[in-house]
This record gives sequence, structure tokens and C-alpha cells, in this order.
Amino acid sequence: MSSKSLPILPGATLGILGGGQLGRRFTIAARPMGYKVMVLDPDAASPAGQMADVHVRADYTDHAALKQLGAACAAVTTEFENVPAASLIELANHCRVSPGAAAVAIVQDRSHEKSWLADNGFATAPFALVNSEADLDAALAATGTPALLKVSRFGYDGKGQARISTPEDARAAFREFGGQPCVLEGFVKLECEVSVVLARSDAGECALFPVAENRHENGILDMSIVPARVADSLADQAREMARDVADKLGYVGVMAVEFFVAGGQLMVNEIAPRPHNSGHYTLDACVTDQFEQQVRALAGLPLGDTRLLSPVAMVNILGDRWHDGGPHWGTLLAHPAIKLHLYGKEAARPGRKMGHFNVLDADLATALQVAEQMRHAL
Ligand code: AMP
Repeated sequence: MSSKSLPILPGATLGILGGGQLGRRFTIAARPMGYKVMVLDPDAASPAGQMADVHVRADYTDHAALKQLGAACAAVTTEFENVPAASLIELANHCRVSPGAAAVAIVQDRSHEKSWLADNGFATAPFALVNSEADLDAALAATGTPALLKVSRFGYDGKGQARISTPEDARAAFREFGGQPCVLEGFVKLECEVSVVLARSDAGECALFPVAENRHENGILDMSIVPARVADSLADQAREMARDVADKLGYVGVMAVEFFVAGGQLMVNEIAPRPHNSGHYTLDACVTDQFEQQVRALAGLPLGDTRLLSPVAMVNILGDRWHDGGPHWGTLLAHPAIKLHLYGKEAARPGRKMGHFNVLDADLATALQVAEQMRHAL
């Protein structure tokens, strides 16, 4: 479909590859705007499938399923980076697809992503590519120790990562990962981490959300605090760098750029070609949330207003909390300024993202204090 057929208006069907919590929120955003939603996900109990008009239960490489999606949908997007780029190309023969396969192919592979960032002049943690055991010594010399060895493909939330202090650690970890391509990254002494979620239109127009300050635990996002408690100049720089990343990728759709802050400088950590966990605060605290923005960008509508309406702290709820009788929802819901979002996942496993809550208050310190209290009370 050419951009002449834009905008796609209510009544049309929008498709999404992936039925996890991000696809669920896309569906929840699109349906009240008058769109029908078709989800492709092999899991019969997928969080987005429960909410969609149609759930096609098939693999992401299933030609018949892709054809069905392409025929029914005016446009298709994705909610996860590991969608096969070939499936996006196949779909693009039938309907509008955003983001495009080329951008997804770069960011879904850590080696490609890091090389692309360095080639395009973006600061990153020191890194070296490791394709075989023979690369490890030179890689360690380039990054120093401590370092982190990360698999290039299919790693997420700290999975597929190992802390390295010695060449022996590096060899053991590389073997443990089955000898697959990896990136070795110098371990950065972080002052904090921030992220920027943005949307970019076909015409190159960008709408940036406020900068989030992110706290991780065991490599998994634990809390986002907005506005980020960093100098305005650093926040502005993060937004400019995120815009620059999107422009240089020729990206269309919603994406997130995660940054490390070290020595007062920004380094790009990761790019996500989709809405992001650190943008969940937008659901309750912004004029437009990141999922409505995804619908708007996909449909070729004008991008929504990203203004922050209230300071906010977002807390992730992981499966770990289900161990003795489950979370104390009553305590959480008794608070008048807490917004609970659960993802409809049946099995609660440690580290699995089951939901999140946003705490809003005119005073950021109060929002943060309540968030900490509720995090413990749960
Ligand atoms: P990643 O999945 O690569 O984003 O890593 C998850 C989290 O681990 C990051 O958000 C950081 O908190 C931490 N981390 C990852 N890489 C590094 C690094 N090179 N130096 C310090 N901390 C890191």
C-alpha cells in the first residue's frame, strides 16, 4: 500500500505480529478508536489474542497466516523485535507495514545494532564483536574487565548475558551460550539509566515522550520515574539523540532508545523497535499514550500530543510476587492515585512481567515514595 492511501481510518483492520502485553495494549488502544484488530501469535492464551477481534494462531513464518493477515489488514505492525524480518517483507507485498524490515533487522541483532550505532557516531559502552572463541582475547583487551558477554540474538531482560572478570570466565560463558555470535561489552559504572520513547511518521515528523529515568533489578526494569531526575540539558540531549537514531534508521512507528548515563555523558544501550516497558507511564500520565501513538503512526494519522500531565512512577509487577498467595491487590487498589494494569497472563514465573502500576502525584517525590511503599506492600 502506498502512503497515498493514508490515513487509514476507523473501520479498517490493523494487524499486529505478537500477542504479548505490548500487543494487548495496542489492541486496547485501537479498538475504542474504531479499528478492528487481528493478532498473529502461536499461543492460544496470548494476552493480546484475548482482546483482539481475530486471533490467528500460527507461527510468525506461516505463509498462509501471513497471507490471511495481509489480506484482512490495512496495515500491520509488530510488538517484539524478534519477528523474522522476512515475514515483514512478505507482509509488505500485501499491506502497509511499519516499522520496516530493514530497521528491525538492525536492532534485533545486538552485533548489528552496536556496529550500526558506532558507524553512525553514537556513543556506546566499549564493545567488541565475538564470533568465535579466538576473538575473545582481543575483545577483552578492547573492553577491559569487568565486562558483560551478551548473545547477539534473542536475549532479553538480562537473559543471555554473563558477567566476565577473566579470560576463563569469557571462554566458559561463550561455550555456555553454545558458541553463538555475541557482543562483549565493558561494564560501565552507571550514574543512572534513562530512555526516550518516540514516534516517527512516514513524513519524518517526530513526537518524543518525556525522558524516563529507569531502575533495573537483575537486568529487568523495576521502576521508571518521570520526569527523569537529570539536568534539563542531559534530558534534551537524550531526546535529540533518540530523534537522530530514528531519523538515521529511517524509522516509521513507535520506538524506544535506552541510554546509560556515565561521567555525565549519554551512551546508547539499546534500541527497541516497538513501544517499551519504560513508556508504560504514558498510559496514565500523558495526553497520548505510547500505544495510541503506535496506532496513529501505523494508520498515518497525525501524531498525538506527548505532554506529561502529572509526575509519575511506574513499577513493574513480576511473577516472583505470586509465591505465597499472590500479590495483595486490595492494598494497591485502596490507593486513589494508583493505576493497575495486569496483562492477563496465566502462569506466573519468576522474572515474568505480569503487570505494572503507575503512581501519579503532583509532587514526584511523593509519587516515588508511594511507589516504593506499594512495591513492598504487594
Ligand atoms: P540489556 O538487556 O543489555 O539492556 O541489559 C539490561 C540491564 O543490565 C541494563 O539496563 C543495565 O542496567 C545492565 N547493563 C547492561 N549492560 C551493561 C553494561 N555494559 N554496563 C553496566 N550495566 C549494564
